[in-house]
Amino acid sequence: MATQNVSEEQLQSQFTYIDAVARLLGDKRPKAYTHTFGCQQNEADTERIRGMLSEMGYEMTDTPDEADFILASEVADAGCIVDNVETLIGIHYAVVEGRPLTERIVTVSGDAVQNPGNYKVLLGTNHRELIEAAGGWKEEPQKLISGGPMMGFAMITLDAPVTKTSSAILAFKEDIVAKSQVSACINCGRCVEVCPSRIIPSRLADYAERHDEEIFVNQNGLECVECGSCSYVCPAKRPLKQAIGSMRKIALANKKKK
Ligand code: SF4
Ligand code: SF4
Repeated sequence: MATQNVSEEQLQSQFTYIDAVARLLGDKRPKAYTHTFGCQQNEADTERIRGMLSEMGYEMTDTPDEADFILASEVADAGCIVDNVETLIGIHYAVVEGRPLTERIVTVSGDAVQNPGNYKVLLGTNHRELIEAAGGWKEEPQKLISGGPMMGFAMITLDAPVTKTSSAILAFKEDIVAKSQVSACINCGRCVEVCPSRIIPSRLADYAERHDEEIFVNQNGLECVECGSCSYVCPAKRPLKQAIGSMRKIALANKKKK
C-alpha cells in the first residue's frame, strides 16, 4: 500500500491554520466530523485520522451540523482488479474467443485418494467420475470437502456435478472435525486477532446461532469473507465460520429481496 508521510513543515502550517481559525472563532477550536463508508478496516483508519485531527487542534463533533470540517473516509481505489488465473482464462474465452466456459481444472486431493492431481473436466462431470479418474480410493473416506480446506464445505455424496465454482474435492480417511468436542467460548480473543475483516467472530456466531439477523447485520456480519481462520484457531472448536457464513447467506438473500 502506498503511504505518504506528512512533513514537519505541513504539520506546522496546519497548526498555524488551526490557531488562525481559533482566533477568528473567538478562541474556540474548529470542529471536525468524520463519516466512514465501507468496511471495518476503514473504521480503524478513520479512528486514526480522528486522533490526528484532535492532535492538530480540531474538536470532534458527533453530528455534521455542528462541524466546520467534514471528512468522508472511503476505501482507497487501488486501480486494479485481483483475479485468479482461471477467471482470467474464462474472460479470455468469453471476450476474445466468444465461447462460454465449459470446462475447468479441479484438484482432487486428500489422503484417501489413490492418485491426487489436477484434472481438467467438463462442467457437469459427476464427482464420482472424477474420483474414478484419480484411481479411486486408497481407503473409503470419512470426510469429503468441496473446495479448499479452509473455505470449502462438507459434501454428503459424490453424486454431485462439477460446476463453474468447483475448485477441488478433498477426501480424508479420518473426519477430525467430527471428533472434536465443541465447548463454550473462553473469550481468548484469538478469533478476533486473526479475522481479516476486523469483525468479532465470537459475537457474530452468537447472533447467528440466535438467528438475530438485525444485530448480525448491524455488527457488520456481512463483512465476513468466510476465510475460516476464526474456526481454525478457536481452542473451543466453535464452528464460527459455519454459523456466520449461514447467517450471512440468509441476510444477503433478504437484502436482495428489499
Ligand atoms: S470466517 Fe469471517 S469472521 Fe471468521 S475470520 Fe474469516 S472473515 Fe473473520
Ligand atoms: S477463539 Fe473461540 S474461544 Fe476464543 S474468543 Fe473466539 S470463539 Fe471464544
